[in-house]
Amino acid sequence: MRRGGRSGARTALAVALLLGVAALLVVVLRTPWDVLPVPPGGRTAPDPTAGLDADQVARAEEFAGALRPASLVSISLGLAASALLGLTRLGARLVQAAGAPLRGRWAGQVLLGVPALVVVGRLVTLPVSAYAEVVRHRYGLSTRGWGLWLRDVAVSLAISAVLTTLVVLAFLWLVRRAPRTWWAWSGLAAATLVVVGSFLYPVVIEPAFNRFEPLPAGELRSDLLALAEENGTPVQDVLVSDASRRTTALNAYVSGFGSTRRVVVYDTLLDRLPDAEIEAIVAHELGHVANDDVLTGTLMGALGAGAATALLGWLLSWAPLLRRAGAEAPGDPRVVPLLLLLVSVGGLLGTPLQNLVSRQIEARADVHALDLTRDPEAFIAMQRRLSTTNLGDPDPPAAWHWYFGSHPTAAQRIALAQDWQRLEEG
Ligand SMILES: [Zn+2]
Repeated sequence: MRRGGRSGARTALAVALLLGVAALLVVVLRTPWDVLPVPPGGRTAPDPTAGLDADQVARAEEFAGALRPASLVSISLGLAASALLGLTRLGARLVQAAGAPLRGRWAGQVLLGVPALVVVGRLVTLPVSAYAEVVRHRYGLSTRGWGLWLRDVAVSLAISAVLTTLVVLAFLWLVRRAPRTWWAWSGLAAATLVVVGSFLYPVVIEPAFNRFEPLPAGELRSDLLALAEENGTPVQDVLVSDASRRTTALNAYVSGFGSTRRVVVYDTLLDRLPDAEIEAIVAHELGHVANDDVLTGTLMGALGAGAATALLGWLLSWAPLLRRAGAEAPGDPRVVPLLLLLVSVGGLLGTPLQNLVSRQIEARADVHALDLTRDPEAFIAMQRRLSTTNLGDPDPPAAWHWYFGSHPTAAQRIALAQDWQRLEEG
């Protein structure tokens, strides 16, 4: 490699470290580590059964026990396939062969090679996804027929193939356009993409899977809008998604920010839950709104994406790695399988940190819900109902929860509500 390239790689590494440290600092400073003072007499120890009866706990544990190995197998298979394609010449050959009809030009190799790689990656894990769907059917959690399941697989695959192709196309264009500074431009582009993606997600991606209707007029609707008003974050509407086409699970979420921000509840909540429990759920979501959690998460993600792209600039300057993948330079389309491997490894490494932050943010939203509704009984009843209906293991293995847990466990969330109650009673 020429000297200019090597010093460019060193700059990329320095910027990656700098951005990485900045991202960590933002995480440390912006994450709510302490969401509730310690009540007199200390914190309530979480009850591992979350107050459910033995049958319910056994059923949730059985369900989780059937799905956890499937998740691990799926991750391992995906990673193995990605490594096989990215660390041998197999992926490079696939990209070249796929691009042949477009006379082997670089853009042609990307346009046909990336979808081929995405499809291969999906096919490898598809049997495991089908098995997981069988398990969800068996436990009555999935209401989705196999036709709809196939349609969902095809639509997500199409979206992912198109988006990945466009991103890789822009990436390689930058690499070829600016051989020394591409990592800086693509880092900026990646950060921007995270922000734009999170903003557009509710209006572009979500409608591909669900229909959304305003919550019908009535007492619940006026109560929820009043709750939002009280929250200091008036919302135009609470949307109901037709989740029951796929699942019996209960859920609600906030997505987007600024003009695309929305509070969505699953239609499965409406007939089956008392209003007080629905209010507890929506009050939790309003906590996310009040704290601008979607925006904060997006900005953390953008900083992380910038850091990761600069790191990519350093890694892809390493000639032996490129040779192993069968590519000659970072701008060679045969680098794409290696690129996809590095992105998925980065994602897997980032997951526990992301979930660590997420659990704290979720706990803060829980406290917000309790402050807003002042109804810990409804909150606790709602947690139990979610555990029973969604078959959530109230007390999963610690290592599993550390890596995969985006929310505190049901046992922890109930203990938090009890602490809140004890603080109120003074
Ligand atoms: Zn939440």
